[in-house]
Amino acid sequence: MSWFHAFVDLILPRTCISCTTKLLKNEKYVCLNCLTDLAFLHDYKQLKDNKIYYQIAGLVPIQGAFAGFRFDKGGKLQKLIHHLKYYQKPQIGIILGEYLASRIDNPFPKNSILIPIPLHRQKLKKRGYNQAAKIAQGLSNIWKIELFEQGLVRTKFTETQTFKSKVERQKNVENIFEVTQTIKRPIVLVDDVITTGATLISASRTLKNHNIKDIYIVTLAAANY
Ligand SMILES: [Zn+2]
Repeated sequence: MSWFHAFVDLILPRTCISCTTKLLKNEKYVCLNCLTDLAFLHDYKQLKDNKIYYQIAGLVPIQGAFAGFRFDKGGKLQKLIHHLKYYQKPQIGIILGEYLASRIDNPFPKNSILIPIPLHRQKLKKRGYNQAAKIAQGLSNIWKIELFEQGLVRTKFTETQTFKSKVERQKNVENIFEVTQTIKRPIVLVDDVITTGATLISASRTLKNHNIKDIYIVTLAAANY
């Protein structure tokens, strides 16, 4: 620890965002206890036989999908993702992505490319980073799969999905993505939390329309699980 960090630590003790205990030297933002506390789902073992897969594959053909953790309202993960998205803490995305990837072997083809669900440029400008890209970065660091952050762009600005019904959500996100270049390798779409799956269905459709044969999906977490 440099004298500067020691000094900062002294006047501003580093604490876990989730449980507020003091962090150990090798911990950042979140303590190991809180990470191991997250409700790990085991869907990665059955990429074609789990809730996320059926949610999407019923509407657009994909090769496999899974979510890492269960997302509970008021839970630790919600707090962490809230900080990731609204408190300028991009590092949390990398930490969570790395943590998920370190718990399991890469279940996707080795030559896959990770593409995060993009934000509209207006939102990206405001936030400064795409939280899904940070999670993808964490996955890429551990699994050594190539990350292509600009693989998809969001061409339409959409309002929040939170208060919309399932049908409204799907309509709201139809044709909002575009592929930036032709890719001939399997693609793994990455997102933070899947709720109805509307966004991921829309992105998968866009990839299908561009003749991408193999599409996979991974999300850090799943709500309503
Ligand atoms: Zn903690």
